[in-house]
Amino acid sequence: MRIAIVGAGSIGLAVAWRAAQSGAEVVVHDPDPGSGASRVAAGMIAPVTESHYGEAALGPFMAASADAWPGLARDLEAASGLAIGFRDVPTLVVGVEDGDRAEIDRQAELYRLTARNVETLTARAARKVEPLLSHRVRGGVLAPEDRAVDPRVVHDALLIAAERAGVELRAERIDDLAELDADQVVIAAGCGSASFVGAGGAGGANDGAASDPGSGPDFPERHRDYAGTATDEGCLAARSEHSDAATADGRLRGRDEAASEGARWTLPVRPVRGAVLRLRTVGDQPLPRTTVRGYVKGHPIYIVTRESGEIVVGASSDERGFDRRTGTAGVVHDLLRRAIELVPEIAEYHLDEVSVGFRPGTPDNLPLIGRLDSRTVAATGHYRNGIALIPATATGVAALLAGDDKAIPAAFDPLRFGPFARQRPNDVTRRQRPENPLSDGSSRLVQPGAPCADPIPGSGQRSAAPSASAPESRVPAGSDKTESRGDENGHEAADDTSTHEEADS
Ligand SMILES: Cc1cc2nc3c(=O)[nH]c(=O)nc-3n(C[C@H](O)[C@H](O)[C@H](O)COP(=O)(O)OP(=O)(O)OC[C@H]3O[C@@H](n4cnc5c(N)ncnc54)[C@H](O)[C@@H]3O)c2cc1C
Repeated sequence: MRIAIVGAGSIGLAVAWRAAQSGAEVVVHDPDPGSGASRVAAGMIAPVTESHYGEAALGPFMAASADAWPGLARDLEAASGLAIGFRDVPTLVVGVEDGDRAEIDRQAELYRLTARNVETLTARAARKVEPLLSHRVRGGVLAPEDRAVDPRVVHDALLIAAERAGVELRAERIDDLAELDADQVVIAAGCGSASFVGAGGAGGANDGAASDPGSGPDFPERHRDYAGTATDEGCLAARSEHSDAATADGRLRGRDEAASEGARWTLPVRPVRGAVLRLRTVGDQPLPRTTVRGYVKGHPIYIVTRESGEIVVGASSDERGFDRRTGTAGVVHDLLRRAIELVPEIAEYHLDEVSVGFRPGTPDNLPLIGRLDSRTVAATGHYRNGIALIPATATGVAALLAGDDKAIPAAFDPLRFGPFARQRPNDVTRRQRPENPLSDGSSRLVQPGAPCADPIPGSGQRSAAPSASAPESRVPAGSDKTESRGDENGHEAADDTSTHEEADS
């Protein structure tokens, strides 16, 4: 089978590598491999501390992927000859004020729903685990099963491993999928995935036309109508853990009808900007021996350490199209100040780099993975978890390409929004009311007909559910300060298009 993959970020390359290992003939197309989010990411593999209210459907996939990481790390290191910086060190989540501590206790309830190991620690116990913590830290939570990798080396290693497995890399941008000479096409173009359009339905053939090549600032407008259709049952279906059996029939019937009416798919991926700082130790300065996450006056922050002496401090999260520059000075200020409050030693390190990337966000924060039509598969929209989800995505998509239609959870169906989601029977939405507290404990629970969790991209409409993380995790009850960056610093926020600036992976 000849497979064309659009996008050589870590997702596209991992799928290519696995598909080539299964015997497929694979070509990856990308004008600038590694120019996307994959080389900006901090590299946390955090099924526990990245769990968020309203994202229950992601939990099992995150868990499976995290469990598969050690094996993938071994395979990748053997195939590439590179050490990818896989670190099996615990994650500590700490706070310095009462409100921050209260928020951590609340998060801990959510973490425990993952059924993974979570321990509450006193301040003294937390400092024993991480001696570099500030004496102001009031205790926290230990998540020993969250881990981290170095995403830049992972990307380098995937390039080598894929090439050694026979994958051909072509340095070209793809605007028209129909021109690709392949039996199957995989769209793994991160935020660039939004530019493709095609016909769908069970027997639909992809026409591959690009709706508007390029991912300029105007792109969200193209999804105005499309995202609007995600306000009904598609939204609930995406959150369901039971959607396989409940929707299989209705989904296919709806798709064939929609396709026969000339409906076309697009992928509602939008750029969620994030900046991280890369620092380095000087001489024999001590390094944190854990991944430190925490809250400072209600604002989340993380510090990820590599054995190489690199420290990543992150991350901001806001939506300004593809603007890489506006407001980055304030972001550097805020991230450093918060990191130093938790780990004072950070002030002694060398600031090496400020990098800005765009998380491929979706209307419900779940990825878009699955079949779009008989020739086209989506593997995109991984938002803030694309590094953590490399193993599960690569294995699942390779299996899907090999004919296993059940390889990917139905909740990630890339046709769950838009015209192909419209014709689901009504009873499906009723049956799919989430029962798990991860889903329905939130005020974001979407009722049929109510607006979907996220705004219509580009419309200026902001929902009560910001994209980067659950609002519940960003505004601690009783925190000493819960305002945005502007308020916290006594300034106005730089501009009102910035939804928030938060530490998010
Ligand atoms: C600040 C920040 C911190 C993060 N931290 C974490 C973390 O700790 N853990 C985690 O799991 N995730 C994290 N993420 C998220 C993660 O980086 C992304 O989810 C992941 O990298 C997405 O990978 P991708 O391969 O889908 O997309 P990308 O890495 O963006 O790659 C897409 C590729 O597609 C190419 N492309 C685009 N359009 C076309 C076209 N038309 N033709 C050909 N090629 C095209 C681009 O050139 C690019 O190389 C973070 C993200 C950010 C921004």
